This record gives sequence, C-alpha cells and structure tokens, in this order.
Amino acid sequence: MAVSGIVVSPGIAFGKAIHINLHHSKVDYRLLPVAQIAQECEKVSKAIIFLSQYLTDCQQHLTADSEHFNLIDADIMLLQDDDLAAELEKYITRFRFSAEVSIERVFAQHADELAQLDDPYMANRSNDVICLGKRLMAAVNGTLLWDVSKLTENAILLAEDLTPAEFATIPLNKIKGIVLKTGGLTSHTAILAKAAGIPALLSCQFDNFNINDGSPLILDGISGELHINPTDAISQQLQLKSAQEIQRRQALKQYIDQDSITQDGHPVCLLANVSSLNDVSQIQDAGAAGIGLFRTEFLLMQVDSVPDEKQQFHLYCDALHSLNGKVLTIRTFDIGADKEIPCLSQDYEDNPALGVRGIRYSLQHRSLFSTQIKAVLRAANHGRVRLLFPMVNQIEELEQAFEIIDWCKQQLIEEEKGFGEINIGIMVETPAAILNLPHLLPQLDFISIGSNDLTQYTLAADRGNPELVKDYPPVSPAMIKFIKMAVDECKAHQTKVCLCGELASEPKLISLLVGLGIDELSVNSASLLDVKATICNGNYAQFTQQAQQALTLSHIDQLNELLN
Ligand code: PEP
Ligand code: MG
Repeated sequence: MAVSGIVVSPGIAFGKAIHINLHHSKVDYRLLPVAQIAQECEKVSKAIIFLSQYLTDCQQHLTADSEHFNLIDADIMLLQDDDLAAELEKYITRFRFSAEVSIERVFAQHADELAQLDDPYMANRSNDVICLGKRLMAAVNGTLLWDVSKLTENAILLAEDLTPAEFATIPLNKIKGIVLKTGGLTSHTAILAKAAGIPALLSCQFDNFNINDGSPLILDGISGELHINPTDAISQQLQLKSAQEIQRRQALKQYIDQDSITQDGHPVCLLANVSSLNDVSQIQDAGAAGIGLFRTEFLLMQVDSVPDEKQQFHLYCDALHSLNGKVLTIRTFDIGADKEIPCLSQDYEDNPALGVRGIRYSLQHRSLFSTQIKAVLRAANHGRVRLLFPMVNQIEELEQAFEIIDWCKQQLIEEEKGFGEINIGIMVETPAAILNLPHLLPQLDFISIGSNDLTQYTLAADRGNPELVKDYPPVSPAMIKFIKMAVDECKAHQTKVCLCGELASEPKLISLLVGLGIDELSVNSASLLDVKATICNGNYAQFTQQAQQALTLSHIDQLNELLN
C-alpha cells in the first residue's frame, strides 16, 4: 500500500511509524455556555497538575540548583500558586472565558505586572510567564502528551502539522523521516526538514490507512510516496534506489572546493541559508562562499527567554569564527506569521501573515530590536557582517531602522564598546518593496529577494497551504517579471541582488535565475552542491537566452516545459 504526498525534502527513509500530535488548536474567544463552566475549570486544574508533573520530570535531568533547574522551579511554584488558581477560576466562572482564553489573559496580566518593575531580572521573568502560559494552554489540549522517550532510533513521524517551534523540540537524531497531512513547499517546517537532511513528505493523507505506531514504513522522498507495510520486493527496489541516491550525492562532493562559475566564465556567488550556529559550522563541507541568510528568529524557538546582547554578540562572533573570513548575513528576527516564538508575547491576529511580522514586529519592540542590532554591530568588529531586514515594504520602515542603528552606535560609543562596519540590505518579499526599490536602493548595499514570501504576497496564495501548490507554484509569469524588475532596478543603482528563497535551491531553476541577472544565490545547504554542479556545468549565454524566452511566456505550463 502506498499514499502520495509532496516531496519537500528529498531522500529515502526506512523506519517505523510514530504518530505525534503537537499542534494546538486555535483559541476560541466566544463566551462559554453556562453549562460548560465546571468542565472548563476542571480542564485548567488537570492541565496544571499535568504540566507541573511534566516540569518536575524535566528537572530530573538537570543539576539541582543550576540556573535552568531554578527557572523550572519558579515555573512550578507559579503554577501551584493558590492566587493564580483563584484568578483563573474567576475568569472562567465570572467572565465566562474558556480555559485557554482565561490562561492567556491571566498570564498576560501577571507578565505585565512583572514588566512594570524596574528590576531587569523581573522584566525577563515576564517573558517566562508568557511562555509558561502558552505551555499551559497547550496542556489544556493535551498536546504535551508527546513523549520523546517513545521515539525509537528509526522513527518516521506522522503528524497533522508541525510548527517551526514544534519542529525545534524534536530530537532530530532519532528521526528518519517526516510525513505531514498539511504544509506547502516553502512552509518553514519544510525548509527546516530539508536543511536537516530529513526526507519529508507534506500534504500526505495517511489517515485513511489506519497506520499503527510501529508499522514498517518506507518514505520515498524522490517519487513522493509513503509505503505502508512494504513487501520485500518494494523494500529491495527502494534499497537499490537509495544506494543510487547516496552514490549520486557522494559524486557531488567533487564540487565542494570548486568555484561557482559557469563554463563560459560567469561567476555566481553561492551562499548558504542557516538557522542555527550548528548549521553555520557545517557550511565548510557544503561548499558555500558564506552565509546569505541567517534566520535568527530560529534561535528563539527553543529558549525560555531572548538571549541578551552579550549572549547574541558571542553567538555571532562564534559564527564569524567558524566562517573564517567568509561573509555572514544576519537577518534580524523575522517574527510573526507562522513563526510563533514561544518565549515572546505575540498578540492574537486574525491574519498573522498580513499582520505584525518581520520589520513591523521589530519596530514595535524596540528593545528586542536594538539589543540584536547592538550585538551585530559589535560582532562586525570580528568579521564580515551584512545586516538584513525582513519584510521591508516602504521607505518609512527603513528610515526608522536606520535611526535605530544610529542610536545603537551612539549607545555603544557611550558604553565604550567597539563596533565594526556593516553592509545593510533588505529582504524584498512584497510587490510594494519592488515598486519602492527606486527610493529604497540609494540607502542600501544589497537586497535579497525572499521568493517564498514574494510568491505568497504576489499570488495571494498562502505558502503553507498544500491545496495551492499545484496552481500557484513559485515560478509563474508574474513572479518572473517581478524578479526581473528588481534585478533591473538594482543594476541601475549598481546594487548587488541576491535571492534567498527556496527557488534558489531548485537546480532546474538556476539557469532562469542566473539568466535573469541574479548575482548571488543563497541556498538551503542540502541543495548547495546540486546547485553548484548546475552552475559549473552550465553556460551563461544559454541561461540569459532561456530567461529572455521565459519572460515572453504567458502560461505556467509553458514555463515548466521550458525549464524541464
Ligand atoms: C522568503 O520569504 O523567501 C525567505 C527567505 O524568508 P522566510 O522563508 O524565512 O520567510
Ligand atoms: Mg520571508
């Protein structure tokens, strides 16, 4: 038996099924029917017991009196506080809010009170309280029932969906493959799975097959099929296919130290996308000329509080150290949309993808933003740093960001801390950003086209929605025209143009992108050698010819035909 899905991370995985259900449901803000009040109160009490027990279990693995141990202790004490329980009960019985809404409000109020205190330790604790509230809300839904100990060494995870923050909690060394019912080609979980080299299939309706935990599975992340209880014949066939793929990848290693330059001598700077310090340390093996996109918001997904300036400074310096003179492009925290950060307070939004995200979030949370910028400026004393702002649409946002950079420099001078020169760029992710480029470019050293979001906002097609993958692909006539417009505007201003969305990780699209005039590609590290091989074996004159032809086409099918 086999069920198909969309391949977002290639490879073949052999393993056993494990169902997980981490995903919490949307909060329901309607008032409770009176008959449901007692039930909601009980839900909260049970969740408190459950979460306290879970946290106590977590402490078993920590050294008593370590900072982490004490932070968990503080969480347990708060959960077991009688006043908190009484407050929660009041919100449910008197105001008729659901268990989740009551938790959200009570914890937000408590966090606000802490944040008002002058003590910086307490202000930090305010973030912890928000984070604890979120975990308690999840516990109401039973979503902490996910038990990592249940994982065997060769698990293939089956889940409805995984948020990037949830992905960050998975011990990847135990995972052979990931199969999700939802998700689109450029959803962040897809990008993370690919970067981790874990074969993944999205939009796979495995539910109809009643797969039991422990059932043997083979995930064929080349043809896009999940085989359930495979026969010996299928197993052998896929073992062979897997061996061939491993051999193919082995052969690609010849490109690691080669320059990324076409047969007719056109160089294309090939950089890597990363989301952790660990990823940075691995780029040497990937054959990249540096980092074109460090998605720093992923640093926040697994921590209880935001690293302070000193911690971030050390982290960026460590990254520069392992890059050994190569460029590091640090994107400021791109918070919002599907990137929910457990340790930060993010208000509920009906349309988060169109809400307070990217630079908008940063400009509204200046202390978070300036702490990061100060750390980046200081790190720039120790290597080649470029700073990249996500989701900039208009000049006002850029002007405010520059004011904050100036303010940070002034602070660093007063604090007698050194800082270095940085190049500054923006992610171009919306049609407005492209149309505003003539005003934005005079202030910039480079731009980076975020094709994942640019596709989403150009075609009004949610990048995480599997229903839209086929009809609204990343390469369409409108997208090509927008990329060309951005490139032409950059050439007129002699500004470097990079593309760092997943388009750049698709070998068959490289000729088009390079032909359109993109100077730099920043690529998912799993695809880097494939992309480099395409450049090294290609011909720039043919690339430009293909791009010219692509610009004349009206239909997606025609484009696919040209590119295949
Ligand atoms: C993009 O939108 O193309 C991009 C690179 O940013 P992210 O995928 O992190 O939104
Ligand atoms: Mg983006």
